[in-house]
Amino acid sequence: MRKIAILFVLFTTALVESKAQCPRIISRAKWGARAATSAVLPNRPAPWVVIHHSEGAHCTTDSGCAQQMRNIQSYHIDSNGWSDIGYNWCVGENGAAYEGRGWGRQGAHAPKYNDRSVGICMLGSFMDVVPNVAARRAAQSLIQCGISLGHIDSSYWLIGHRQVKDTDCPGNALFKEIHSWSRFKSNV
Ligand SMILES: [Zn+2]
Repeated sequence: MRKIAILFVLFTTALVESKAQCPRIISRAKWGARAATSAVLPNRPAPWVVIHHSEGAHCTTDSGCAQQMRNIQSYHIDSNGWSDIGYNWCVGENGAAYEGRGWGRQGAHAPKYNDRSVGICMLGSFMDVVPNVAARRAAQSLIQCGISLGHIDSSYWLIGHRQVKDTDCPGNALFKEIHSWSRFKSNV
């Protein structure tokens, strides 16, 4: 009986550790990313997390969010002339986190902060509405995931894109929402 109890503890511990507090992750291969043409290594662990919105369509299904990712990536590569999608991660209202440049490559989302931040884009337009619970949970869990994997500093600061650039991003409603998120910094 005792042996079974010990095995159970070992099993559940391994299960928790393997998940590392991460949300459901959709890899680049899974959403059909084009290959990046170049990559720059960022400062890690990142002391900043920058929240964005895509200002595009909302998505609540895996196929819909994958399509949004491909659209954004094509726009960033073909119209902006960038090497890849600008964000490190995107989060959909299907509750999944989409790998953009990922943890280990410098993003192109917030000038002066690109080399020292993780840029997370919430898929949708959040001027008047906040992302649904699934997306909010996924974004916050993604930050904890980054900390547990050593990519985000545990004493990081969270900001909205508009705090470092003249832009509406991440939308009025979402910007107000992140004021209540852990580690939000109002004065940048
Ligand atoms: Zn932005």
